[in-house]
Amino acid sequence: MAPIPGSGLAKGLAVTLRTMTKKSVTAQYPDAQPDLPPRTRGVIGLFEENCTVCMLCARECPDWCIYIDSHKETVPAATPGGRERSRNVLDRFAIDFSLCMYCGICIEVCPFDALFWSPEFEYAETDIRDLTHERDKLREWMWTVPAPPALDPGAEEPKELATARKTADKLAAQQAPPATEPHADEQARAAEQPTRPQGDSKQQTDQPNPDRPKPGDSAPGHLKSGDSTPDQPKPGDSTPDQPKPDQPKPDQPKPGQEGSE
Ligand code: SF4
Ligand code: SF4
Repeated sequence: MAPIPGSGLAKGLAVTLRTMTKKSVTAQYPDAQPDLPPRTRGVIGLFEENCTVCMLCARECPDWCIYIDSHKETVPAATPGGRERSRNVLDRFAIDFSLCMYCGICIEVCPFDALFWSPEFEYAETDIRDLTHERDKLREWMWTVPAPPALDPGAEEPKELATARKTADKLAAQQAPPATEPHADEQARAAEQPTRPQGDSKQQTDQPNPDRPKPGDSAPGHLKSGDSTPDQPKPGDSTPDQPKPDQPKPDQPKPGQEGSE
């Protein structure tokens, strides 16, 4: 059947009208930053403290764009009579991102978790030689690596996390100030409060607690001239545990009588 003249134009106008009523999905980059998934393959970060220069990543890279230089270093024996050890010291670690095809093989094969994906992608250069990132720049990318996702509920804690947590707990216990002892005394005093004889508040404050430090012990300079025994409560003390001068107890010496005892 022959097409109706003008039907193609009507279809095209229908598509135009449909898209005109939809919301635009265009991101105004660079004014608006894209909302990327956290595991976006943007650039590779190097955590060089974990790198043992095993060369696995450089050997497995299909583009041969990882450059590693190292030398061996002798480590003295840890104990007398022990054997010296040798270890690899990293001299250079570079990735040429003008060759990299972002396959992620190097990150997958690294046995020591020294390489990570970062979602950062704004490192375009006008000179292609600047796309070879040396170890310092690769380390800078580590600050942009997102934290790993949370473990599933009930999952076994990873060994490295458990070890780090135990070490942190041990350090915190060693660095804890000995200020916990006075705190324990405070708690002991608070526990003694209900055992005191019940009565009016004046009587309770007049009864010095034998377990408490005596007034003369803590502040001997506060003793007045009429006080001859530092273990007796002082008149005029402002603390509620001290007897008041105007209401002495019958079984305790009055302020004026202490000097004669
Ligand atoms: S992502 Fe792939 S191509 Fe890029 S450095 Fe790693 S292994 Fe090589
Ligand atoms: S595989 Fe990992 S540990 Fe080995 S050289 Fe590469 S980054 Fe370093």
